[in-house]
Amino acid sequence: MKHLRRNFFKLIGVSFLSTILLPYKFLYSVTKKIINPDLTEKQKDIMLNEATERPYSSPLNHEKRKGFFHCANCGAKLFSSDAKFDSGTGWPSFTESLPGAFKTKIDYSLGMKRIEYHCANCGVHHGHVFADGLQKKRFCSNGLCLIFKPETNL
Ligand SMILES: [Zn+2]
Repeated sequence: MKHLRRNFFKLIGVSFLSTILLPYKFLYSVTKKIINPDLTEKQKDIMLNEATERPYSSPLNHEKRKGFFHCANCGAKLFSSDAKFDSGTGWPSFTESLPGAFKTKIDYSLGMKRIEYHCANCGVHHGHVFADGLQKKRFCSNGLCLIFKPETNL
């Protein structure tokens, strides 16, 4: 009888945990809203499933004009060209985002602890942020999630 009761509590414990964790995952996934109907399958795979584009594949790696980088899904302004630098990693990289542009969460996939960041406005995934030393942050961005709008001299 005692044994049975222990198993019963073990079972309650497991179902309790899964009721806490499963809806959390579900809620997290529904906070991502696809707004731009013209997104490609590859863009959606990165934004919704946290996939990563091939390094050196983004034309934005070579973008050096002054302007702002916007969310390719919702259009929110995310990075200034002033924060862009050549990290040599093959992905567009920035030392900082515009204030409040992103929210972050800890990502344990690939067996390591990384900080994932997503658009604060529409929730879609953009990349990971690393601390490479010397207090400099590196926002490692998927170019497919960004649209560059050059500054116009009006
Ligand atoms: Zn967005």
